[in-house]
Amino acid sequence: MSDQLQVKPPTSSHSAAAERAWADLHTHTTYSDGLLSPSEVVSQAKAANLRAIAITDHDEISGIDAALNAAKAFDVEIVSGVELSVTHKGIDVHVLGYFVDHHNPKLIAFVKDFQQERRLRLDRILAKLEAMGKPLSKESVLIKAGAGSVGRPHIADAMVEAGFVENYYDAFNQYLADGRPAYVPKKKLAAAEAIKLLHGAGGLAAIAHPGLDVPDEIVLEMVHAGIDAIETVHPKHGDARRLHYTAMAQAHGLLTTGGSDFHGGRKAFEKIGDHRVSYEIVERMKDYLMKAKNAWA
Ligand code: AMP
Ligand code: ZN
Ligand code: FE
Ligand code: FE
Repeated sequence: MSDQLQVKPPTSSHSAAAERAWADLHTHTTYSDGLLSPSEVVSQAKAANLRAIAITDHDEISGIDAALNAAKAFDVEIVSGVELSVTHKGIDVHVLGYFVDHHNPKLIAFVKDFQQERRLRLDRILAKLEAMGKPLSKESVLIKAGAGSVGRPHIADAMVEAGFVENYYDAFNQYLADGRPAYVPKKKLAAAEAIKLLHGAGGLAAIAHPGLDVPDEIVLEMVHAGIDAIETVHPKHGDARRLHYTAMAQAHGLLTTGGSDFHGGRKAFEKIGDHRVSYEIVERMKDYLMKAKNAWA
């Protein structure tokens, strides 16, 4: 008998099929700073043999319906998500929401308001750039952003197009990154407020890529504020970080999550599913939510 015919006994209550299936729980579309539309992302997810993906646009949920529609044709499960920009003690912390009801009125009102705030921030960044002799029209940036949330990546693209910088990364390093001369912080959203918003919309809250300059003490404060999960798998997390955050999640009884933070090819060499988690994580999230919703109600 060949090795291939030997069937491993299931090691958990979840199905053997689930053990072989994968999920990428961090992706962006044209509704924020991704370069691909929701249906293109879903199509690439199918090609990458993913069973599920989460659509997690920055401060935006309008792309979820398009992804759900596309998913019918591609047989990929969509986890409705969002990536909220939280400010905690002056530090930018991204909070992922999973299984949020994207028709929740409070969440919709919140993201609409955030879009407006992002456009006001764009005005302030453009004013700073103009004062430095780098005038950009608002239109040239908004056209990059399309229907969704406008952010610094769109400004960086417009700066490249205008010939003010050689490439996207120069735009951040010279002008747009935190601490550079055209930096303007976003609207302040407190961690507790973000978590409440996500729970109120029936979703769970995960701290995104803590390895990107979020000190452990801040991660712990987020845990105490009611975070449900830690993103352990991320392109910027090496093995040491992944293990560190996994241990932290275990110590606090939290879920773990992960994905590729896919931006549709904006970052060099990225491919959806390059960083992925077992589909079992999605099942665990569903189990957790069934129990937690009673507690939050
Ligand atoms: P915003 O939400 O407008 O502040 O833009 C945040 C996005 O800009 C992040 O999700 C990254 O994709 C990108 N970004 C932030 N800082 C940098 C950086 N230093 N270099 C390249 N991209 C960056
Ligand atoms: Zn982004
Ligand atoms: Fe992020
Ligand atoms: Fe992201």
